Amino acid sequence: MDTILGVLALDCPADYNQLQVLGTKVSSILQHPTVLGELEEFVFLIDQLKAKLERGDYVDSADLISLRPYCRQDPEEHLLRKLRELLGRFDMEVAIRCVDKLGQPSRLRLRAREDGLIGGDDMEIKPVVLIVDDAPSNIQLLAGLLNSSYQIKVANGGLRCLELAEAEPSPDLILLDIQMPDMDGYEVCQRLKQSDNTKDIPVIFVTGKDQVEEEELGLSIGAVDYITKPYSPAIVEARIATHITLKQQSDALRNLAMRDQLTGLYNRHFLINVAEKRISQAHRHRQPLCLIMIDVDHFKAVNDQHGHSVGDDVLREVARIFVEQSRNEDVVARFGGEEFVFLLDACDLEAGVNKAEKVRQILEDTRVQGLAITASFGLAQLAHGEDFLGLLNRADEAVYEAKSKGRNRVEVAEEAPV
Ligand SMILES: [Mg+2]
Repeated sequence: MDTILGVLALDCPADYNQLQVLGTKVSSILQHPTVLGELEEFVFLIDQLKAKLERGDYVDSADLISLRPYCRQDPEEHLLRKLRELLGRFDMEVAIRCVDKLGQPSRLRLRAREDGLIGGDDMEIKPVVLIVDDAPSNIQLLAGLLNSSYQIKVANGGLRCLELAEAEPSPDLILLDIQMPDMDGYEVCQRLKQSDNTKDIPVIFVTGKDQVEEEELGLSIGAVDYITKPYSPAIVEARIATHITLKQQSDALRNLAMRDQLTGLYNRHFLINVAEKRISQAHRHRQPLCLIMIDVDHFKAVNDQHGHSVGDDVLREVARIFVEQSRNEDVVARFGGEEFVFLLDACDLEAGVNKAEKVRQILEDTRVQGLAITASFGLAQLAHGEDFLGLLNRADEAVYEAKSKGRNRVEVAEEAPV
């Protein structure tokens, strides 16, 4: 590129030799237009591979075939062989370092991550099965069996299993070996069952330990099934499919229980549950937290004048606007009737006011079911030692204040009494 700009900059070539050198460079670039593209492609493949390894996705040597054309010269071929060996052993940590080395020669980094090329799009939505075993051949056997029906993640020890179980996407099932050097399967299972994030993931022990007492122990600490080796592949597949179905059904039920049926937002029950946890976290980490209570203005008149079905449509539309305006970590709930609550983590008063004001403005500017709909907002920031009820009450009083001052406005709550 510099060369081309150089040629263009030479309005009046003073030196014929200089021009000739530039000309040769330009033609060589034009003759090899793919070099840059190939480099980008290679860096992209490397980034993708690294992301997969970090997520604990199952990667077998077939995944390396696409890299081969780019690694014809040493030292890359040597590294590629090494990488294949590491993947065969499921030694992921070292494999990641090896991928880093492989990608090093090029300075050019594709912004694949920012562009969203890695992550979401390339993954089908299949149930996620995490296979945990210290013996690579066992992982390979199970992964080979399940690879076509599930998204497979692998861990070669107990600690890595705990790490991957907490990470997104959360596994729908864990196949857990018992005898492992870093932490045995019983302990891994107990720890999974102790954490709120992982306690609902079904665990199946897959093990050579075939004593009745061992199976009893496994089931007593919360595993849903116990498969002894050697196993029949067809039976393993069938049992896994059964437990995945059960897990999906219970997820669906749990989801139903925490949602408001009309709007699809979280319901009051879920809000109270999650708010208590978020509030104790905020106190513990000394992080700000805000709650916004929102009451749709003159909603009774909408129902009276246009009927309840229009009223319902208005609430659904308002809820959609609220969701659009929220971050992933925000909790947006329908508190009841035409009342809504935003629970904002890591959000101080100033950010909370900005947020409330922005949402209020968008609502004012949007015709909802052809009607001009507005709402009154009450905002409170969590005070030292305050509980959910205290916070909620102050936000609620601020809503009254907003109503009495003419509606369609944001009011900040009085400070909490010390
Ligand atoms: Mg083992």
